[in-house]
Amino acid sequence: MAKIQAPVRKNEKGSGTVTDLTYEAMGVIKVDDYPLFIANVLPGEEIDYLVTKVNAHYGFARVLAVKKASPDRVEGVERVYLQAGIAPLAQLSYPAQLKFKQQQVINLLAKVKLPLTVAPTIGADQQTGYRNKAQVPVRTIKGVLETGIYRQKSHDLLPLSNFLIQAPQIDATIKAVRDLLREFGVPAYNEQYHSGVIRHIMVRRGQATGQQMVVLVSKQRHLPHEIELIEAIAALPEVVSIIINYNPKTTNVILGAQERLVHGQPYIEDELLGHKFHISAQSFYQVNHDQTEKLYQTAIDAADLQPDDVVVDAYSGIGTIGISVAEKVKTVKEIEVVPEAVADAKANAQLNGLTNLEFTVGKAEEVMPTWAEQQVKMDVLFVDPPRKGLSPEFVAAVLQVKPAKIVYISCNPATLVRDLRLLVDGGYEAKTVQPVDMFPLTNHVESVVALTRVEK
Ligand code: SAH
Repeated sequence: MAKIQAPVRKNEKGSGTVTDLTYEAMGVIKVDDYPLFIANVLPGEEIDYLVTKVNAHYGFARVLAVKKASPDRVEGVERVYLQAGIAPLAQLSYPAQLKFKQQQVINLLAKVKLPLTVAPTIGADQQTGYRNKAQVPVRTIKGVLETGIYRQKSHDLLPLSNFLIQAPQIDATIKAVRDLLREFGVPAYNEQYHSGVIRHIMVRRGQATGQQMVVLVSKQRHLPHEIELIEAIAALPEVVSIIINYNPKTTNVILGAQERLVHGQPYIEDELLGHKFHISAQSFYQVNHDQTEKLYQTAIDAADLQPDDVVVDAYSGIGTIGISVAEKVKTVKEIEVVPEAVADAKANAQLNGLTNLEFTVGKAEEVMPTWAEQQVKMDVLFVDPPRKGLSPEFVAAVLQVKPAKIVYISCNPATLVRDLRLLVDGGYEAKTVQPVDMFPLTNHVESVVALTRVEK
């Protein structure tokens, strides 16, 4: 084994000034260029620490005392929100959080040598209670059914009823469902023995409508006392839909493939930018309603749409972006891999009286190359991929199709800058990245970039 040559040792005490905050919201102190990562401290703070772990190139320490606090420090944040990963940035003042997110993008762009301007992050008016969706594990602790959150990097449940960033109406529903499960004696799932019944409770809420969907994720198809239980949940405020999702597998994936509607309608309704949307249990839907409207508006403005444009909305989910722009353009073609989401998207086009949308179920990286082969015309391409970003096959096909404009909406700046590098090298130009704070108090960074084709 290589000998570790770190300037610090485990269990050694030290003091220093925090110089940086990593993407994971860990404070950094450098000892002779050797970085120590320390939770719950902020840049500029002078602290005493205890070294807890020493690796070859970096170590970890625990804060013992903050001798000089940052002016950006928010006091009185409960540790559970920091430690369970619910709100890792809650100790940082909101203006400093917005700067932190802008800086993340600046740092990553520098790594790929792209000289783009990063605009100040568009902030949220509401920094708590903004999430419209919750997925809460259910377990038994000391003989009592509990709902809460896993302790960081574990599956130990920490009971919790105020989740801080979720809509309070959702927290209330989860608590009420928990009490009903206790009352009817419906057992919680036991991960160790793969026994018991209820694994998770998922709740979704349409902010514009107040409609809530409750999904009980169960190890078995039918619940004990099912009729009485469902009747009682259906009587809770705002609940318009109850689904039993059947997940019999030993897996970390929350939802199983099969589900059964046991009360009301199979979707909730919400509104974005004046359009109505039906959202079913298996479909992706942005979790922060107000910031989503700002995000979409930023993307739409950047696209500079014309009435004759053929628009592609790739990674389209329930069709929200395409439907928001359909009235302004000639045609919208949507690509999405989850069939349930595409079914929602079709229903949503109809719900909004739109007839100029086309839908393709499939992987964007497989659909786009076939369109490139068929020389499908496209003027504006919206992409809104998951965290892993665009695949090389997708980018290659886009560079063949050559849309005049690409609007990239990204939930992961690391993959965004990687993909921007490829698109710029392939003949596109970008000037500005606009971060939008979709997830206040957390370290997630969302951004929008418009790219224009410069080479023919
Ligand atoms: N634009 C939508 C959805 C964005 S989330 C909105 O704003 O709500 C990303 C979407 O991409 C999800 O719906 C996911 O199911 C879908 N997706 C993931 N991988 C994909 C792939 N390889 N091809 C097409 N769609 C994919």
